Amino acid sequence: MKRFRCDELVEVITAYLEDALDQPARDGVRMHLAACEGCERYFEQIRTTITIVGDPPPEKLPADVRDRLLSAFKERVQS
Ligand SMILES: [Zn+2]
Repeated sequence: MKRFRCDELVEVITAYLEDALDQPARDGVRMHLAACEGCERYFEQIRTTITIVGDPPPEKLPADVRDRLLSAFKERVQS
């Protein structure tokens, strides 16, 4: 199983939602989300955003939405 730090998780979360990760990485994401409340909340935000936006491929999230989520996440990590 692959282990992720919080900042690494941000990088792979869209791939996870797209089901584009291999099995060890997927398990790693799931474990991290189960153990890390902040990332879990971030994950839910991304998933909700994707649903609202109408299920585009996650890498095609509008740049402003993506930036907003990423900066919200970074603020949390720094505080
Ligand atoms: Zn985390």
